[in-house]
Amino acid sequence: MMNFINKLSKTTIASSMVAASVLGVSNISHASGSGAGPGENAQGQQGQDDAIAFGNTKNPKNVIFMVGDGMGPSFNTAYRYYKNQPGAKKMNPTAFDKYLKGTNRTYPNDPKENVTDSAAGGTAFATGHKTYNGAISVDNNKKPLKSVLEQAKEQGKSTGLVTTAELTDATPAVYAAHVDSRDKKDEIAQQFYNDKINGQHKVDVMLGGGSKYFGKENGHLDKKFKKDGYDLVNNKTQLLNSQSDKVLGTFSEKDMPLQIDAPSKNPLLVDMEQSALSKLDKNKKGFFLMVEGASIDKAAHPNDVTGVMSEMSGFEKAFQNSIDYAKTNKDTLVIATADHSTGGMTIAKGKDYKWDPEAIHKMKHSGMYMTKEIASGKDPEKVINEGYGINFPSKQMDKVKQAAKDLRKLQKEGKDEKDPKVAAATTKLQNAIQKPINDASHTGWTTNGHTGEDVNTYAYGPGSSKFKGNMENTQSAKNIFDFFKNDVASNQNQQ
Ligand SMILES: [Zn+2]
Repeated sequence: MMNFINKLSKTTIASSMVAASVLGVSNISHASGSGAGPGENAQGQQGQDDAIAFGNTKNPKNVIFMVGDGMGPSFNTAYRYYKNQPGAKKMNPTAFDKYLKGTNRTYPNDPKENVTDSAAGGTAFATGHKTYNGAISVDNNKKPLKSVLEQAKEQGKSTGLVTTAELTDATPAVYAAHVDSRDKKDEIAQQFYNDKINGQHKVDVMLGGGSKYFGKENGHLDKKFKKDGYDLVNNKTQLLNSQSDKVLGTFSEKDMPLQIDAPSKNPLLVDMEQSALSKLDKNKKGFFLMVEGASIDKAAHPNDVTGVMSEMSGFEKAFQNSIDYAKTNKDTLVIATADHSTGGMTIAKGKDYKWDPEAIHKMKHSGMYMTKEIASGKDPEKVINEGYGINFPSKQMDKVKQAAKDLRKLQKEGKDEKDPKVAAATTKLQNAIQKPINDASHTGWTTNGHTGEDVNTYAYGPGSSKFKGNMENTQSAKNIFDFFKNDVASNQNQQ
Protein backbone atom coordinates (compact mmCIF):
# COMPACT_ATOMS: atom_id res chain seq x y z
CA MET A 1 0.00 0.00 0.00
CA MET A 2 2.89 2.30 0.66
CA ASN A 3 4.32 4.06 -2.28
CA PHE A 4 8.04 3.73 -2.71
CA ILE A 5 8.24 4.71 -6.35
CA ASN A 6 10.05 7.93 -5.69
CA LYS A 7 12.09 6.83 -2.74
CA LEU A 8 14.27 4.33 -4.48
CA SER A 9 16.72 4.27 -7.29
CA LYS A 10 15.36 3.09 -10.57
CA THR A 11 18.26 0.81 -11.43
CA THR A 12 16.90 -2.41 -12.82
CA ILE A 13 18.69 -5.63 -12.27
CA ALA A 14 18.51 -7.59 -15.49
CA SER A 15 16.81 -10.93 -15.13
CA SER A 16 19.60 -12.79 -16.77
CA MET A 17 22.16 -11.32 -14.44
CA VAL A 18 20.05 -12.25 -11.47
CA ALA A 19 19.55 -15.78 -12.73
CA ALA A 20 23.27 -16.19 -13.20
CA SER A 21 24.00 -14.89 -9.74
CA VAL A 22 21.35 -16.99 -8.08
CA LEU A 23 22.54 -20.13 -9.75
CA GLY A 24 26.21 -19.43 -9.25
CA VAL A 25 26.96 -20.51 -5.70
CA SER A 26 29.94 -18.22 -5.29
CA ASN A 27 28.03 -15.06 -6.08
CA ILE A 28 25.21 -15.35 -3.68
CA SER A 29 24.95 -14.39 -0.07
CA HIS A 30 23.71 -17.39 1.79
CA ALA A 31 22.49 -17.00 5.33
CA SER A 32 23.11 -19.82 7.71
CA GLY A 33 22.23 -20.27 11.34
CA SER A 34 24.05 -22.15 13.99
CA GLY A 35 23.17 -25.46 12.35
CA ALA A 36 20.30 -27.70 13.29
CA GLY A 37 22.55 -30.40 14.60
CA PRO A 38 21.37 -33.81 15.61
CA GLY A 39 20.13 -33.98 19.16
CA GLU A 40 18.63 -30.51 18.93
CA ASN A 41 15.24 -32.06 19.23
CA ALA A 42 14.07 -33.17 22.60
CA GLN A 43 11.55 -35.60 21.21
CA GLY A 44 10.59 -38.35 23.57
CA GLN A 45 12.27 -36.68 26.51
CA GLN A 46 10.04 -33.84 27.46
CA GLY A 47 6.81 -35.74 27.52
CA GLN A 48 3.86 -35.77 25.27
CA ASP A 49 3.72 -32.03 24.69
CA ASP A 50 7.08 -32.03 22.99
CA ALA A 51 6.14 -35.06 20.93
CA ILE A 52 3.11 -33.12 19.77
CA ALA A 53 5.11 -29.98 19.16
CA PHE A 54 8.07 -31.52 17.41
CA GLY A 55 6.57 -34.44 15.51
CA ASN A 56 8.33 -37.70 14.81
CA THR A 57 11.37 -36.60 12.88
CA LYS A 58 14.21 -34.31 13.89
CA ASN A 59 14.52 -32.36 10.70
CA PRO A 60 11.58 -31.29 8.52
CA LYS A 61 11.36 -32.41 4.90
CA ASN A 62 8.49 -30.03 4.19
CA VAL A 63 8.15 -26.43 5.37
CA ILE A 64 4.93 -24.42 5.31
CA PHE A 65 5.80 -20.79 6.09
CA MET A 66 2.75 -18.67 6.81
CA VAL A 67 2.77 -14.88 6.87
CA GLY A 68 -0.03 -12.85 8.39
CA ASP A 69 0.89 -9.61 6.66
CA GLY A 70 0.58 -6.80 9.19
CA MET A 71 -0.56 -9.28 11.86
CA GLY A 72 0.66 -7.41 14.93
CA PRO A 73 0.14 -8.93 18.37
CA SER A 74 -2.93 -6.75 19.02
CA PHE A 75 -4.67 -8.48 16.11
CA ASN A 76 -3.93 -11.91 17.58
CA THR A 77 -5.40 -10.80 20.91
CA ALA A 78 -8.35 -8.98 19.36
CA TYR A 79 -9.14 -12.04 17.29
CA ARG A 80 -9.30 -14.15 20.49
CA TYR A 81 -11.88 -11.71 21.90
CA TYR A 82 -13.70 -11.80 18.57
CA LYS A 83 -14.01 -15.59 18.66
CA ASN A 84 -15.39 -15.77 22.20
CA GLN A 85 -18.84 -15.15 23.61
CA PRO A 86 -19.25 -11.69 25.16
CA GLY A 87 -18.53 -11.84 28.89
CA ALA A 88 -16.82 -15.23 28.70
CA LYS A 89 -15.19 -15.88 32.07
CA LYS A 90 -12.50 -17.94 30.40
CA MET A 91 -11.73 -17.18 26.79
CA ASN A 92 -11.08 -20.12 24.49
CA PRO A 93 -7.78 -19.97 22.66
CA THR A 94 -7.50 -19.33 18.93
CA ALA A 95 -5.94 -21.93 16.65
CA PHE A 96 -2.68 -20.00 16.94
CA ASP A 97 -2.39 -19.71 20.74
CA LYS A 98 -1.27 -23.24 21.51
CA TYR A 99 1.68 -22.98 19.12
CA LEU A 100 3.18 -19.66 20.24
CA LYS A 101 6.95 -20.07 20.32
CA GLY A 102 8.37 -16.57 20.46
CA THR A 103 8.56 -13.13 18.89
CA ASN A 104 10.35 -11.53 15.96
CA ARG A 105 12.17 -8.20 15.83
CA THR A 106 11.11 -6.66 12.56
CA TYR A 107 13.25 -3.52 12.01
CA PRO A 108 14.86 -3.19 8.56
CA ASN A 109 18.39 -2.18 7.50
CA ASP A 110 17.30 1.10 5.98
CA PRO A 111 19.24 4.37 6.07
CA LYS A 112 16.08 6.46 6.52
CA GLU A 113 13.39 4.32 8.14
CA ASN A 114 13.51 2.02 11.18
CA VAL A 115 10.03 0.53 10.79
CA THR A 116 9.84 -2.12 8.10
CA ASP A 117 7.69 -2.55 5.03
CA SER A 118 6.68 -5.94 3.64
CA ALA A 119 9.53 -6.03 1.13
CA ALA A 120 12.34 -5.66 3.69
CA GLY A 121 10.44 -7.80 6.21
CA GLY A 122 9.85 -10.51 3.61
CA THR A 123 13.44 -10.40 2.40
CA ALA A 124 14.58 -10.96 6.00
CA PHE A 125 12.57 -14.13 6.53
CA ALA A 126 12.99 -15.41 2.96
CA THR A 127 16.77 -14.90 2.71
CA GLY A 128 18.14 -14.33 6.23
CA HIS A 129 19.34 -10.79 5.47
CA LYS A 130 17.96 -7.43 6.57
CA THR A 131 17.73 -4.86 3.81
CA TYR A 132 16.15 -1.49 2.92
CA ASN A 133 12.41 -0.86 2.63
CA GLY A 134 11.19 -1.64 -0.88
CA ALA A 135 13.91 -4.22 -1.63
CA ILE A 136 12.81 -7.52 -3.16
CA SER A 137 15.51 -9.99 -2.03
CA VAL A 138 18.43 -7.73 -2.84
CA ASP A 139 20.83 -6.29 -0.27
CA ASN A 140 21.70 -2.63 0.26
CA ASN A 141 24.07 -2.82 -2.72
CA LYS A 142 21.24 -4.21 -4.90
CA LYS A 143 22.91 -7.63 -5.00
CA PRO A 144 20.55 -10.61 -5.13
CA LEU A 145 20.05 -12.69 -1.99
CA LYS A 146 19.14 -16.35 -2.25
CA SER A 147 15.75 -17.33 -0.81
CA VAL A 148 14.78 -20.52 1.02
CA LEU A 149 12.39 -21.29 -1.86
CA GLU A 150 15.28 -21.16 -4.31
CA GLN A 151 17.28 -23.45 -2.02
CA ALA A 152 14.35 -25.89 -1.91
CA LYS A 153 14.15 -25.89 -5.71
CA GLU A 154 17.88 -26.51 -6.04
CA GLN A 155 17.43 -29.61 -3.89
CA GLY A 156 14.63 -30.91 -6.12
CA LYS A 157 11.79 -30.02 -3.78
CA SER A 158 8.48 -28.67 -5.03
CA THR A 159 7.63 -25.03 -4.29
CA GLY A 160 4.52 -22.92 -3.88
CA LEU A 161 3.40 -19.35 -3.26
CA VAL A 162 -0.16 -18.68 -2.08
CA THR A 163 -1.47 -15.21 -1.27
CA THR A 164 -4.63 -13.12 -1.15
CA ALA A 165 -2.65 -10.21 -2.65
CA GLU A 166 -1.19 -9.97 -6.13
CA LEU A 167 1.34 -12.74 -6.74
CA THR A 168 3.80 -9.98 -7.59
CA ASP A 169 3.21 -8.21 -4.25
CA ALA A 170 6.22 -7.88 -1.95
CA THR A 171 5.76 -10.94 0.26
CA PRO A 172 5.42 -13.59 -2.47
CA ALA A 173 7.90 -11.71 -4.68
CA VAL A 174 10.81 -11.97 -2.22
CA TYR A 175 10.84 -15.76 -2.61
CA ALA A 176 11.33 -15.91 -6.38
CA ALA A 177 12.45 -12.50 -7.67
CA HIS A 178 15.33 -10.08 -7.11
CA VAL A 179 14.45 -6.46 -7.85
CA ASP A 180 15.58 -3.19 -6.34
CA SER A 181 12.01 -1.88 -5.97
CA ARG A 182 8.77 -3.62 -5.06
CA ASP A 183 6.92 -1.39 -7.49
CA LYS A 184 8.44 -3.14 -10.54
CA LYS A 185 5.70 -5.73 -10.66
CA ASP A 186 5.95 -6.48 -14.38
CA GLU A 187 9.63 -7.24 -13.86
CA ILE A 188 8.82 -9.46 -10.87
CA ALA A 189 6.35 -11.51 -12.94
CA GLN A 190 8.89 -11.73 -15.77
CA GLN A 191 11.46 -13.13 -13.37
CA PHE A 192 8.93 -15.70 -12.13
CA TYR A 193 8.84 -17.00 -15.69
CA ASN A 194 12.38 -16.41 -16.95
CA ASP A 195 14.63 -17.29 -14.02
CA LYS A 196 15.07 -21.03 -13.80
CA ILE A 197 16.80 -23.42 -11.44
CA ASN A 198 18.08 -26.71 -12.87
CA GLY A 199 16.08 -25.95 -16.01
CA GLN A 200 12.83 -25.56 -14.13
CA HIS A 201 10.64 -22.61 -13.18
CA LYS A 202 11.26 -21.71 -9.55
CA VAL A 203 7.65 -21.89 -8.40
CA ASP A 204 5.41 -24.87 -9.17
CA VAL A 205 2.22 -23.59 -7.56
CA MET A 206 1.26 -19.90 -7.77
CA LEU A 207 -2.16 -18.95 -6.42
CA GLY A 208 -3.46 -15.45 -5.67
CA GLY A 209 -4.43 -12.18 -7.32
CA GLY A 210 -2.70 -9.99 -9.88
CA SER A 211 -3.83 -11.47 -13.21
CA LYS A 212 -2.89 -8.21 -14.93
CA TYR A 213 0.83 -9.00 -14.47
CA PHE A 214 0.51 -12.37 -16.23
CA GLY A 215 -1.71 -11.38 -19.16
CA LYS A 216 -1.56 -9.50 -22.41
CA GLU A 217 -0.03 -6.32 -20.94
CA ASN A 218 3.00 -8.24 -19.72
CA GLY A 219 3.79 -10.53 -22.65
CA HIS A 220 1.18 -13.24 -21.96
CA LEU A 221 3.21 -14.97 -19.28
CA ASP A 222 0.12 -17.05 -18.48
CA LYS A 223 0.14 -18.64 -21.93
CA LYS A 224 3.86 -19.28 -21.68
CA PHE A 225 3.41 -21.04 -18.35
CA LYS A 226 0.61 -23.10 -19.88
CA LYS A 227 2.90 -24.20 -22.69
CA ASP A 228 5.34 -25.37 -20.03
CA GLY A 229 2.74 -27.63 -18.41
CA TYR A 230 1.03 -25.34 -15.92
CA ASP A 231 -2.74 -25.42 -15.49
CA LEU A 232 -4.25 -21.93 -15.72
CA VAL A 233 -7.20 -21.40 -13.37
CA ASN A 234 -9.34 -18.36 -12.53
CA ASN A 235 -12.00 -19.62 -10.13
CA LYS A 236 -12.56 -22.15 -7.36
CA THR A 237 -14.13 -24.82 -9.59
CA GLN A 238 -11.25 -24.72 -12.04
CA LEU A 239 -8.81 -24.87 -9.14
CA LEU A 240 -10.50 -27.95 -7.69
CA ASN A 241 -10.47 -29.62 -11.12
CA SER A 242 -6.82 -28.85 -11.82
CA GLN A 243 -4.83 -32.04 -12.36
CA SER A 244 -1.34 -30.82 -13.18
CA ASP A 245 1.32 -30.66 -10.45
CA LYS A 246 2.01 -27.13 -11.64
CA VAL A 247 -0.58 -24.38 -11.62
CA LEU A 248 -0.89 -20.62 -12.10
CA GLY A 249 -4.12 -19.44 -10.51
CA THR A 250 -5.07 -15.77 -10.58
CA PHE A 251 -8.47 -14.97 -9.15
CA SER A 252 -8.63 -11.20 -9.55
CA GLU A 253 -6.97 -8.49 -11.55
CA LYS A 254 -5.26 -6.97 -8.49
CA ASP A 255 -5.65 -8.00 -4.82
CA MET A 256 -8.30 -10.61 -4.11
CA PRO A 257 -11.44 -9.32 -2.36
CA LEU A 258 -11.63 -9.76 1.42
CA GLN A 259 -13.22 -13.03 2.51
CA ILE A 260 -16.30 -11.28 3.99
CA ASP A 261 -16.96 -9.63 0.60
CA ALA A 262 -15.78 -12.29 -1.84
CA PRO A 263 -18.09 -13.88 -4.41
CA SER A 264 -18.60 -17.62 -3.87
CA LYS A 265 -16.78 -18.46 -7.10
CA ASN A 266 -13.56 -17.26 -5.44
CA PRO A 267 -11.44 -19.73 -3.51
CA LEU A 268 -10.69 -18.76 0.10
CA LEU A 269 -7.11 -18.72 1.38
CA VAL A 270 -7.63 -22.18 2.88
CA ASP A 271 -8.91 -23.53 -0.47
CA MET A 272 -5.81 -22.26 -2.26
CA GLU A 273 -3.56 -23.67 0.45
CA GLN A 274 -5.25 -27.07 0.35
CA SER A 275 -4.94 -27.23 -3.43
CA ALA A 276 -1.25 -26.31 -3.16
CA LEU A 277 -0.64 -29.02 -0.56
CA SER A 278 -2.35 -31.66 -2.68
CA LYS A 279 0.03 -30.89 -5.55
CA LEU A 280 3.29 -30.31 -3.64
CA ASP A 281 2.67 -33.39 -1.51
CA LYS A 282 3.39 -35.67 -4.47
CA ASN A 283 7.11 -34.92 -4.50
CA LYS A 284 9.03 -37.47 -2.38
CA LYS A 285 11.82 -34.93 -1.88
CA GLY A 286 9.40 -32.63 -0.08
CA PHE A 287 8.34 -29.03 -0.57
CA PHE A 288 8.49 -25.43 0.55
CA LEU A 289 5.19 -23.54 0.60
CA MET A 290 4.62 -19.90 1.55
CA VAL A 291 1.03 -18.95 2.45
CA GLU A 292 0.20 -15.29 2.99
CA GLY A 293 -2.85 -13.75 4.62
CA ALA A 294 -2.02 -10.53 2.82
CA SER A 295 -5.21 -8.63 3.32
CA ILE A 296 -4.87 -8.37 7.11
CA ASP A 297 -2.44 -5.58 6.19
CA LYS A 298 -4.54 -4.28 3.30
CA ALA A 299 -7.52 -3.83 5.64
CA ALA A 300 -5.44 -2.44 8.52
CA HIS A 301 -3.92 0.40 6.47
CA PRO A 302 -7.32 2.13 6.14
CA ASN A 303 -8.23 1.10 9.74
CA ASP A 304 -11.01 -1.26 8.68
CA VAL A 305 -11.65 -3.42 11.75
CA THR A 306 -14.32 -5.51 9.99
CA GLY A 307 -11.89 -6.28 7.19
CA VAL A 308 -9.09 -7.16 9.61
CA MET A 309 -11.26 -9.64 11.54
CA SER A 310 -12.47 -11.16 8.25
CA GLU A 311 -8.89 -11.78 7.15
CA MET A 312 -7.73 -12.99 10.59
CA SER A 313 -10.47 -15.58 10.35
CA GLY A 314 -9.35 -16.60 6.86
CA PHE A 315 -5.74 -16.84 8.01
CA GLU A 316 -6.71 -18.90 11.08
CA LYS A 317 -8.56 -21.42 8.88
CA ALA A 318 -5.50 -21.78 6.68
CA PHE A 319 -3.25 -22.12 9.75
CA GLN A 320 -5.45 -24.85 11.24
CA ASN A 321 -5.43 -26.64 7.90
CA SER A 322 -1.63 -26.68 7.80
CA ILE A 323 -1.48 -27.92 11.39
CA ASP A 324 -3.88 -30.72 10.41
CA TYR A 325 -1.65 -31.55 7.44
CA ALA A 326 1.47 -31.57 9.65
CA LYS A 327 -0.21 -33.84 12.18
CA THR A 328 -0.65 -36.54 9.55
CA ASN A 329 2.63 -35.75 7.77
CA LYS A 330 5.13 -35.78 10.60
CA ASP A 331 8.02 -34.56 8.48
CA THR A 332 6.32 -31.19 8.03
CA LEU A 333 7.14 -27.98 9.91
CA VAL A 334 4.55 -25.20 10.06
CA ILE A 335 5.63 -21.66 10.98
CA ALA A 336 3.29 -18.67 11.16
CA THR A 337 4.43 -15.13 11.82
CA ALA A 338 4.01 -11.55 10.64
CA ASP A 339 6.32 -9.16 8.82
CA HIS A 340 5.23 -6.17 10.96
CA SER A 341 2.17 -4.60 12.57
CA THR A 342 -0.17 -2.27 10.72
CA GLY A 343 -2.49 0.49 11.88
CA GLY A 344 -1.58 0.57 15.58
CA MET A 345 -4.86 -1.01 16.56
CA THR A 346 -5.86 -0.78 20.22
CA ILE A 347 -8.30 -3.07 21.99
CA ALA A 348 -10.58 -0.49 23.63
CA LYS A 349 -10.47 3.24 23.09
CA GLY A 350 -11.87 6.14 25.10
CA LYS A 351 -12.48 5.90 28.80
CA ASP A 352 -14.32 2.58 28.96
CA TYR A 353 -12.41 -0.59 29.77
CA LYS A 354 -14.24 -2.38 27.01
CA TRP A 355 -13.85 -3.76 23.49
CA ASP A 356 -17.00 -5.03 21.80
CA PRO A 357 -16.47 -7.40 18.87
CA GLU A 358 -20.19 -8.28 18.81
CA ALA A 359 -20.78 -5.20 16.69
CA ILE A 360 -18.19 -6.43 14.19
CA HIS A 361 -19.87 -9.83 13.97
CA LYS A 362 -23.04 -8.09 12.80
CA MET A 363 -21.35 -6.39 9.85
CA LYS A 364 -22.16 -7.75 6.39
CA HIS A 365 -19.36 -6.06 4.46
CA SER A 366 -15.96 -4.52 5.15
CA GLY A 367 -15.32 -0.79 5.15
CA MET A 368 -13.04 -1.28 2.14
CA TYR A 369 -15.87 -2.87 0.18
CA MET A 370 -18.41 -0.16 1.00
CA THR A 371 -15.88 2.54 0.15
CA LYS A 372 -15.15 0.96 -3.22
CA GLU A 373 -18.85 0.61 -4.00
CA ILE A 374 -19.63 4.24 -3.15
CA ALA A 375 -16.49 5.49 -4.89
CA SER A 376 -17.62 3.68 -8.04
CA GLY A 377 -20.83 5.73 -8.03
CA LYS A 378 -23.34 3.61 -6.09
CA ASP A 379 -25.90 5.25 -3.80
CA PRO A 380 -24.23 5.78 -0.38
CA GLU A 381 -27.39 5.10 1.65
CA LYS A 382 -28.08 1.83 -0.17
CA VAL A 383 -24.50 0.62 0.18
CA ILE A 384 -24.37 1.45 3.91
CA ASN A 385 -27.75 -0.19 4.58
CA GLU A 386 -26.62 -3.36 2.85
CA GLY A 387 -23.17 -3.42 4.43
CA TYR A 388 -23.88 -2.34 7.99
CA GLY A 389 -25.46 -4.65 10.55
CA ILE A 390 -25.57 -2.05 13.33
CA ASN A 391 -27.24 1.36 13.62
CA PHE A 392 -25.73 4.02 11.35
CA PRO A 393 -26.49 7.51 12.76
CA SER A 394 -28.21 9.82 10.27
CA LYS A 395 -25.76 12.68 10.98
CA GLN A 396 -22.93 10.33 10.02
CA MET A 397 -24.82 9.36 6.85
CA ASP A 398 -24.81 13.05 5.90
CA LYS A 399 -21.01 13.06 6.30
CA VAL A 400 -20.70 9.99 4.08
CA LYS A 401 -22.88 11.61 1.42
CA GLN A 402 -20.82 14.80 1.54
CA ALA A 403 -17.55 12.85 1.29
CA ALA A 404 -18.96 10.86 -1.65
CA LYS A 405 -19.97 14.13 -3.35
CA ASP A 406 -16.50 15.62 -2.88
CA LEU A 407 -14.89 12.51 -4.33
CA ARG A 408 -17.24 12.46 -7.31
CA LYS A 409 -16.39 16.08 -8.08
CA LEU A 410 -12.69 15.16 -8.34
CA GLN A 411 -13.50 12.11 -10.47
CA LYS A 412 -15.52 14.31 -12.83
CA GLU A 413 -12.49 16.54 -13.22
CA GLY A 414 -10.78 13.49 -14.67
CA LYS A 415 -8.51 12.76 -11.70
CA ASP A 416 -7.75 9.08 -11.11
CA GLU A 417 -7.03 7.15 -7.90
CA LYS A 418 -3.31 7.93 -8.02
CA ASP A 419 -4.03 11.64 -7.64
CA PRO A 420 -3.25 12.71 -4.06
CA LYS A 421 -6.49 14.71 -3.84
CA VAL A 422 -8.49 11.65 -4.84
CA ALA A 423 -6.58 9.52 -2.34
CA ALA A 424 -7.30 12.03 0.43
CA ALA A 425 -11.00 12.24 -0.51
CA THR A 426 -11.23 8.43 -0.58
CA THR A 427 -9.64 8.20 2.86
CA LYS A 428 -12.09 10.79 4.15
CA LEU A 429 -14.99 8.77 2.72
CA GLN A 430 -13.69 5.52 4.18
CA ASN A 431 -13.16 7.08 7.63
CA ALA A 432 -16.72 8.42 7.57
CA ILE A 433 -18.05 4.98 6.64
CA GLN A 434 -16.06 3.20 9.35
CA LYS A 435 -16.52 5.60 12.27
CA PRO A 436 -19.71 3.97 13.60
CA ILE A 437 -18.22 0.45 13.66
CA ASN A 438 -14.93 1.64 15.19
CA ASP A 439 -16.96 3.54 17.83
CA ALA A 440 -19.39 0.70 18.52
CA SER A 441 -16.60 -1.85 18.89
CA HIS A 442 -14.38 0.63 20.82
CA THR A 443 -11.52 0.07 18.36
CA GLY A 444 -8.71 2.63 18.32
CA TRP A 445 -6.13 3.25 15.58
CA THR A 446 -3.02 5.41 15.53
CA THR A 447 -1.76 5.33 11.94
CA ASN A 448 -2.47 4.40 8.32
CA GLY A 449 1.01 2.92 8.13
CA HIS A 450 3.09 0.23 9.82
CA THR A 451 4.29 0.09 13.43
CA GLY A 452 7.46 -1.35 14.90
CA GLU A 453 6.48 -3.70 17.74
CA ASP A 454 7.73 -7.29 17.78
CA VAL A 455 5.39 -9.84 16.21
CA ASN A 456 4.40 -13.33 17.35
CA THR A 457 5.87 -16.53 15.94
CA TYR A 458 3.92 -19.77 15.99
CA ALA A 459 5.42 -23.12 15.04
CA TYR A 460 4.59 -26.81 15.03
CA GLY A 461 6.45 -29.89 13.88
CA PRO A 462 10.09 -31.01 13.68
CA GLY A 463 12.45 -28.09 14.26
CA SER A 464 9.78 -25.90 15.84
CA SER A 465 11.88 -25.48 18.99
CA LYS A 466 14.31 -23.42 16.87
CA PHE A 467 11.73 -20.62 16.87
CA LYS A 468 11.63 -20.16 20.65
CA GLY A 469 12.28 -16.78 22.21
CA ASN A 470 12.77 -13.26 20.91
CA MET A 471 14.61 -13.46 17.58
CA GLU A 472 15.69 -11.33 14.66
CA ASN A 473 13.30 -11.76 11.71
CA THR A 474 16.25 -13.16 9.74
CA GLN A 475 16.47 -16.23 12.00
CA SER A 476 13.51 -17.98 10.30
CA ALA A 477 15.36 -18.15 6.99
CA LYS A 478 18.59 -19.20 8.70
CA ASN A 479 16.74 -22.05 10.40
CA ILE A 480 15.07 -23.17 7.16
CA PHE A 481 18.39 -23.13 5.25
CA ASP A 482 19.81 -25.34 8.01
CA PHE A 483 16.85 -27.72 7.86
CA PHE A 484 17.25 -28.11 4.10
CA LYS A 485 21.00 -28.59 4.47
CA ASN A 486 20.37 -31.46 6.87
CA ASP A 487 17.45 -32.90 4.89
CA VAL A 488 18.06 -36.50 3.89
CA ALA A 489 15.06 -36.67 1.54
CA SER A 490 16.43 -34.12 -0.93
CA ASN A 491 20.17 -34.09 -0.40
CA GLN A 492 21.02 -37.57 -1.70
CA ASN A 493 21.56 -36.40 -5.24
CA GLN A 494 23.44 -33.25 -4.36
CA GLN A 495 27.17 -33.11 -4.62
ZN1 LIG B 1 1.41 -2.65 4.63
